[in-house]
Amino acid sequence: MREIQALVLESGKPVLRTRSAPRAHHPDDVVVRVAATGICGTDRGIVLGEFPALEGVVLGHEAVGVVETVGSAVTRLRPGDRVVVNPTYHCGRCRPCRRGMAAHCTAKDGREIGVDRDGTMAGAVVVPKGFALPLPDSMSFRRAAVVEPLACVLTNVEAAAPRPDDRVLVIGAGPIGTLCALVFAHRGARTVLLERDTTRAALARDILPDGVEVVGGPGPGSGPGPGHGPGLALPAGVLPHGPDVVVDTTGVLLEQALEIVASGGTVVVMGEREHARASVPLRPLVTRGVRVIGAGPYPPRLFEAALDLAADLPIDRIVTHTFPLAAYRDAFAALAAPLEPATAPAAYAAMKVLLVSDPDLAAR
Ligand SMILES: [Zn+2]
Ligand SMILES: [Zn+2]
Repeated sequence: MREIQALVLESGKPVLRTRSAPRAHHPDDVVVRVAATGICGTDRGIVLGEFPALEGVVLGHEAVGVVETVGSAVTRLRPGDRVVVNPTYHCGRCRPCRRGMAAHCTAKDGREIGVDRDGTMAGAVVVPKGFALPLPDSMSFRRAAVVEPLACVLTNVEAAAPRPDDRVLVIGAGPIGTLCALVFAHRGARTVLLERDTTRAALARDILPDGVEVVGGPGPGSGPGPGHGPGLALPAGVLPHGPDVVVDTTGVLLEQALEIVASGGTVVVMGEREHARASVPLRPLVTRGVRVIGAGPYPPRLFEAALDLAADLPIDRIVTHTFPLAAYRDAFAALAAPLEPATAPAAYAAMKVLLVSDPDLAAR
């Protein structure tokens, strides 16, 4: 039996282990040989002990690879097909699924890849059919690896339903905030990205088109993580009438967002930290008509829409670093999540980091 390397959660920390390669046990199973996996804020939260995950689980969910074997009921994929994994399971049978709200499927427990079911930071992973989507030949793995976070972003942008003349403020220039700014700008909205961490602000400036203003200075960081702090300050002259849409990707700045959003505007709460709470004044909602919304996980149609959109948007530019799977410690350190007791304060060096399971495959 083939053996693979896998990044396993043991006592709350990732450890590289050798395991036998997973096989297709059910007729619906697809075994994917993983090329690379993006490190998500969720993975970062797990290794920092801020997001719960199952002991012994293989981490990772933002993956691309090549189909290795398929179960007898899988007809639309063949071994050798290049795929992106949709890690957000839905059953298709529960009430939300039947009502077209698969994002809110009630049968997710034990099926969240990289959280409570074995994930993709490994040589191979098994997913049910329908959760490995074939890639256009022209799309690089590097770009396709960013489809999953793009699907999260697209879901929140759709929920915000911006009008063409809206002015948008995105708070936090992590991968999610930077992708958000990219998508709003692509839709023609005047977009400003606010980030206090100077490294991440500089990375975002490099990545984003000229029309998007990245402002720094005192204010929030792309938390959770270093650089985050209270207070929200837009430089003088930036969005002087207040933004019509505010997307808070830090998940901790709702009160500040309510202060600056224009009357009749929308605040999207996007980032999440476990146990995060907000105490908010009600006046902006009641007398200024501000909407506060959350979008939840993406439904399958928006994962597919993200895959389509990825052909037109240079989302691969957010991938600033790649590391082999065995160098996972360096990878997490580049995301200000050192696994060893640190001698220096944790700092961001990267935007999006990919962990490469198979360098030959990833080069395809
Ligand atoms: Zn993710
Ligand atoms: Zn369901």
